[in-house]
Parts: sequence; structure tokens; C-alpha cells
Amino acid sequence: MIFRVIDKEELRKLFYILVADNTVIGPVQKGTDRDGNPIYVFEEVFYFKDLKLHYTTTKLPAKRYFLPFKEDLSTFRINGNDWEKSVDYNIDRPYIFFGLHACDINALNKLDKVLIESVYPMPYYAAKRKNMFIIGFDCIPQPYCFCRSMGADTVLHGFDMYITDIGNRYFIEILSDTAYNFIKTINAKEPKESDHVRYMKTVAEKNKKFTAHVDTTDLTKILDMEFQSEVWEYWGEKCLACGTCSMVCPTCYCYGVEENVEIDLRSARKTKHLYSCNLIDFAEVAGGHNFRFERYVRLKYRYYHKHRGFVEAYEESLCVGCGRCGEACLAGITVPEVIASVRGEEK
Ligand code: SF4
Ligand code: SF4
Repeated sequence: MIFRVIDKEELRKLFYILVADNTVIGPVQKGTDRDGNPIYVFEEVFYFKDLKLHYTTTKLPAKRYFLPFKEDLSTFRINGNDWEKSVDYNIDRPYIFFGLHACDINALNKLDKVLIESVYPMPYYAAKRKNMFIIGFDCIPQPYCFCRSMGADTVLHGFDMYITDIGNRYFIEILSDTAYNFIKTINAKEPKESDHVRYMKTVAEKNKKFTAHVDTTDLTKILDMEFQSEVWEYWGEKCLACGTCSMVCPTCYCYGVEENVEIDLRSARKTKHLYSCNLIDFAEVAGGHNFRFERYVRLKYRYYHKHRGFVEAYEESLCVGCGRCGEACLAGITVPEVIASVRGEEK
């Protein structure tokens, strides 16, 4: 890893160098919520002033640029006595993600394990992931963030460069040749000892700001022991089975596939759309039998996939502790509270 420091106005220059030839996606503000707090989303950015690098958490994660909510997998057309199949990975131009937090980069690293490195890789995801240049940006922990408990508050790979605001300057970690070449186009310097000290102080100050916490000690074993616990019915009673938690989650990747034939019966398309295991028909099979008819069973399985099954397969949880699901849930169900209740702590 190579380190550099830049004066703050150099970042503006870097942005305009990047945006000249690429599509830049970053955090922008979209109004305020009912309490007057800013709402942030990831969107295409044209001007540096619109890039809100000190944002809190976006409502929707970055995954919509890698796993769109709805995507055509293939189209079919009858041509004479034959038929043609067309496959498009839906990549039209190079993308730059400017300002992803560590938890969201860790989420992509987890998706990579399933959608790129597994026995059945998904080329649609892999193509978009490889087409994306990622610039990470350090965050300010919010009251709902428990990424530290999940080991996702820092990130070591899965990005091209990572920027930390150390007060008077930006401290930059460089991981790829492309990032190094971009950095050479602005006035970047080798960090001095005083920059290292500032960086370490910044990290120490950030660590003091975490307030939410999940005790993950022996969690997979505890989940095995508590499979029949009544706490699942307690949370299932509250759950509205709306599926919002999966939609806002940066690591939920389950999807359904449907095939539609056009009205002229000469063409068709196969479409993938993201789905939630909390929706009532998620485990319904041909013939109408539903393996997870009860809400509490579906909610329980979502937790078992993230904190039990994925850990067994990959030795890490499928949750990065971003807190989005708890913030978005109309029933007020949060991961720290659910896990605490399973562990026998007060609900
Ligand atoms: S967002 Fe809340 S209410 Fe909706 S499915 Fe998820 S846990 Fe249930
Ligand atoms: S389960 Fe919730 S806290 Fe964990 S990664 Fe998904 S949205 Fe974030």
C-alpha cells in the first residue's frame, strides 16, 4: 500500500480530472427528513460542490449500481425458423464511485465472495464490479452504526484509493496502479511523520464515537442453541413482512427470475429482480406449498443466513453493521436489539 497526503483543494482538481472522462457516482443530498436531518443518496455527480463527502449514511446502499433492483438477463427473438438469444451485462461506460464508506466497501467484498468467487459466479455482477473504480472516504460514526462490532469499520481491500480527512489535509491510501496514475496528476506528497500522527489521532477520535454495539461472541453457537427460542415469535409479531430491510441492506442479494413473452409471441425476456426473504411468498414452491408461511420463521431465517449460515461458509458475517435496516424498519426492529434478545439480554 502506498500513502500520500494532499492539500484539500487538490481533491477538487482530482474530481474534475475524473469526471472529464468518466461517470462519477457519489453521495449527494436530497432534501431533509421530518426532523430536518439531511437525506443522502448515491447519484451521478457533475460538480464537486454537490459531492457531500461528510455524509452520514445513504438511505439506499451502493448495490443498486452492481445489483440493480430489476435487470434483463437475456432476450429472445424468433427469426424465421430459428431463434436468437441476446445477453447483455448492461455495462455502457466506466464508472467511478467517489466516497464509499468502509462498511459499504466491505459489503461489496462480501458480495464478491458469493457472486464472483463462488462455484456459480454471476457475470452480470462481476462485469459491473470490475468496471467500477472505487474511492473510499472515511466516515463519522452515527448512533445506529455497529460496523465496529462486525469488523467492518475499516477496510483493507476492494477499493482503488481511500481518503481520510486528517484536519488540515487528506491522507490517501493507494491500492491500484490506476489510482496511483490519477494521484500523479495532482500535487500529492509523501506523508511526513506529523501526518502519520494526525492520521492515528483521527482514527482514535473516530473509535470513541461508536455507541451501538452487537456482542458477536460465540454468536453462531448461540443461534444454534436458540433456534426454538420464543424471541423469534416476539419479533415476528412486530414484523410487517414488508421486505424493506432487504432492499436497503448492502449485502442482501437474493433475487427472483421471471420470463415474459411479448404479445406477438415472437420475442421474450428473462428478468431478474431483487427479492426479500421476509416477503410471504419467498419460500413458496410449485403446487402452492409455502415452507416459511409464518412471519417469524422468515424473519428468523434472515438472521440465520446473515449470522449463522454465511459465517459457516465464509468465516464472516453477512452483516456489516451499517444500521440501514433498523433505521428503515417501520416496526422498529434493529439488529442490535434482536441479537441482544437472542442472547437473553433485555428486549
Ligand atoms: S423492514 Fe422491518 S417490518 Fe419490514 S420485513 Fe424487515 S424487519 Fe419486517
Ligand atoms: S443487516 Fe442491516 S445492519 Fe446488517 S448490513 Fe444489512 S442493512 Fe446493514
